[in-house]
Amino acid sequence: MTNKSQTYISSPFPRRRSVAVDVGGVIVGGEAPVVVQSMTNTDTADVDSTVAQVSALARAGSELVRITVDRDEAAAAVPRIKERLQRIGVNVPLVGDFHYIGHKLLADHPDCAEALDKYRINPGNVGFKTKKDKQFGQIIEMAMKHDKPVRIGVNWGSLDQELLTHLMDKNQEEGSPLTAQEVMREAICQSGLLSAQRAEELGLGRDKIILSAKVSQVQDLIAVYTDLAQRCDYALHLGLTEAGMGTKGIVASSASMGILLQQGIGDTIRISLTPEPGGDRTREVQVSQELLQTMGFRSFVPIVAACPGCGRTTSTVFQELAQDIQEHIRESMPKWREQYPGVEELNVAVMGCIVNGPGESKHADIGISLPGTGETPAAPVFVDGVKTVTLRGPNIANEFKAMVLDYIEKRYGTGVSSEHEIS
Ligand code: SF4
Repeated sequence: MTNKSQTYISSPFPRRRSVAVDVGGVIVGGEAPVVVQSMTNTDTADVDSTVAQVSALARAGSELVRITVDRDEAAAAVPRIKERLQRIGVNVPLVGDFHYIGHKLLADHPDCAEALDKYRINPGNVGFKTKKDKQFGQIIEMAMKHDKPVRIGVNWGSLDQELLTHLMDKNQEEGSPLTAQEVMREAICQSGLLSAQRAEELGLGRDKIILSAKVSQVQDLIAVYTDLAQRCDYALHLGLTEAGMGTKGIVASSASMGILLQQGIGDTIRISLTPEPGGDRTREVQVSQELLQTMGFRSFVPIVAACPGCGRTTSTVFQELAQDIQEHIRESMPKWREQYPGVEELNVAVMGCIVNGPGESKHADIGISLPGTGETPAAPVFVDGVKTVTLRGPNIANEFKAMVLDYIEKRYGTGVSSEHEIS
């Protein structure tokens, strides 16, 4: 698996230079496009559930998937999960998430240490007092032994309290002390940087280290990563922790990460959404992709542009059509990626009336301008900017969907016949 072929469109700002890290064949950092990753919420010891969720996340487009490795049963399950995934053709790199006893789990379960493609450790809970350095060193040794990269992932909720207290005390002694928030931000940065430096001193290469510093507030995240980006060239994993549910989580993550990505900061992202009960875990992958795609950094799925609707259109036809097409595209993408190379760059427009409909439709690869209230019941369709046909009657939606699929086949088809299902 590789992400080298993905599109990367430069932002107006130069990309921050970082050391590239190979995570099971997916490159994070360097010149590589920003990598989308996700995390399971299954019990890793439950092999069936974990295999199912990793597969779903990978099919949705997650390029790395992290799983919790919290006890012996989970560590013992990891090689079986890897094997099952490979057997069904899912080769997404797996990242093991370790807290407190990672050193012991990796030593006691060498098959797990080998099966994982990266280890994620948190310097705030890798060990305490005299054990901290020793246990941190043991994990780094395991990473070197198995030739695996490590993400040193600081989290403000489990920040190294000794370091924070030391910086707070030192701050008090200084003439113009920083605020408690500023000291906390500095402690987060230092925790990551000092740990990375220690890992290097132990022999881990710079090309095996990824840093993250997750906080739950948007302004803190922007400040911490802006600072980290200036102080090191390690590949950076962006993520807002405890982002929350639904729109709150999406907005907070997008606002903070969007600003950082625009400045060229960030080599891999995860959008940590709290799923609604029974909700779809793959939503976090979809949001990450949409963030990167709407900002013009990468293309994952064809974009369906739809107007918001207003008093000029009282029918729900255009909303239903836009939703139908968007859902059909997303469901079809795992197959289309193979069948129609480049289809992710397609733009479709579904517009609600004559005011902006024809103009917007002309700018899309294929677009339709549906009739608004009181307008002639006719829907012109534009293909590559040219009006090709006007659809009429009760079957407009299905006819347009068929035209979209036909366009995809002609423009992106590789000559291998395919079956289109119109629902
Ligand atoms: S295109 Fe027409 S229906 Fe859609 S928002 Fe604009 S004016 Fe309203």
